[in-house]
Amino acid sequence: MRKLLLTGCGLVLALYLLPVFWPSEEAEPFTVPSAAATGAAAAPAGDYTTVTVEIDGTPTELPLEEYVAGVVAAEIPNDFPEQALRAQAVAARTYAVYKLSRGRPDAHPSADLCDDYHHCAAYRDIAVETASGSDLSRVQRAVEDTAGEILTYDGQPIAAVFHCVSGPRTESAADVWGEDIPYLQSAVSPGGSAYERYEDAVTVTADDFRAAVAEAFPSADVSGAPDTWFKASVRSAAGGVITVELGGVTVEGTAVRELFGLQSTNFTLTTTADSITFHTIGYGHGVGLSQYGAKYMAEQGADYAAILSHYYPGTALAQL
Ligand SMILES: [Zn+2]
Repeated sequence: MRKLLLTGCGLVLALYLLPVFWPSEEAEPFTVPSAAATGAAAAPAGDYTTVTVEIDGTPTELPLEEYVAGVVAAEIPNDFPEQALRAQAVAARTYAVYKLSRGRPDAHPSADLCDDYHHCAAYRDIAVETASGSDLSRVQRAVEDTAGEILTYDGQPIAAVFHCVSGPRTESAADVWGEDIPYLQSAVSPGGSAYERYEDAVTVTADDFRAAVAEAFPSADVSGAPDTWFKASVRSAAGGVITVELGGVTVEGTAVRELFGLQSTNFTLTTTADSITFHTIGYGHGVGLSQYGAKYMAEQGADYAAILSHYYPGTALAQL
């Protein structure tokens, strides 16, 4: 599993969590003064130089930059272009500071962050990985070269979510999580087909499909043939399924994705007499930075600031 992370996409964070913590969580007022405004790289009132991370269940205090390097190492291949690695480093640091600024969650009250990508972000111990032969030197350099840099919107650290690869466009937060966030809008994102599983397929037998639906959506009627199960879908501008009629019940595309382990909500269907196949484009929730999109932009000559402003429009780089 860990070796896979070296060559493919990393793990996509905040997939299910954002709509829970985003609108409802009370955050302390928090402002990151820009160096230009203050004449110095002023630090915010809180201490963002160290973080306590729950690693394998144990709270561990780490320098922020060491933590960021461990997240980037887990999220993106070391051989990606330098500017793409830098963009990922800033996004990962920003996401960590965003979570820090909102206080410790009930899930781990003794740590600021955890290493579960379903909840916070994946993390690899650079020292351990290096000792076992992994070359993470380019990841480390990208983190060092952007040390202390985060993205802000109206002076606040942003929820800099990211994903492996989108379809031709990224998704907006409004379409995926029902929350309109100004800097998480749909953006064009070419170059995704460089990812080997950009197009993917999952085939499910009729028996397995009915069993899964009976448990997840018990009021859906899927007793008929597979080509009668799904009806009209509502899609985002980027192509993702927002909702779809399943056996007479309206279900969310994200729920279908989770239930059948699909790479994304951007799916179409084919059926046989006793099976259904989901054909997907992209991997991940599709919101925010696309790692393969960043790779493509870097290969076209964009620097990390341009990549970040493309995927997080209206944001500004600031120094912690
Ligand atoms: Zn967590």
